[in-house]
Amino acid sequence: MILVSACLLGENCKYDGGSNDNLYVKLYLKDKEYIAFCPEIAGGLEAPRLPCEICGGRVLNSAGEDLTEEFTDGAEQAWDLCEEAEVEQAVLKEGSPSCGVNWIYDGTFDHVRIPGQGIMTRLLRSKGVRCISEEDIMNGRLK
Ligand code: SF4
Repeated sequence: MILVSACLLGENCKYDGGSNDNLYVKLYLKDKEYIAFCPEIAGGLEAPRLPCEICGGRVLNSAGEDLTEEFTDGAEQAWDLCEEAEVEQAVLKEGSPSCGVNWIYDGTFDHVRIPGQGIMTRLLRSKGVRCISEEDIMNGRLK
């Protein structure tokens, strides 16, 4: 079973109220079993919402509110779901403070990318779930 960032499948759960609908991800998932999940919505946030970045180990929105608890709650729900559904792999949205796999933004809200991973990705990886991003799929970088 594969866990997939819901926005990659066209769900309008992204911070700006839109999605990250991705044809390459849909083709990759063809004939595979998967579950769509958005940890930020699960954690109690709404779409649209202010953008968030990881800053000094906390998750802040662009107004400076600390949403670490909501992000952590969403990540824990993701792991519960993974255990229940025997998820071994996740296909996640690159760059997100929840779902980023290879890079995230640096916490300045200035569009600066740094190597890193999202809150949910870190938890799933620590439990042994193989995490790849849509960019890995699009670039043929499957590890
Ligand atoms: Fe997509 Fe993950 Fe952001 Fe939800 S938290 S909108 S699934 S990138």
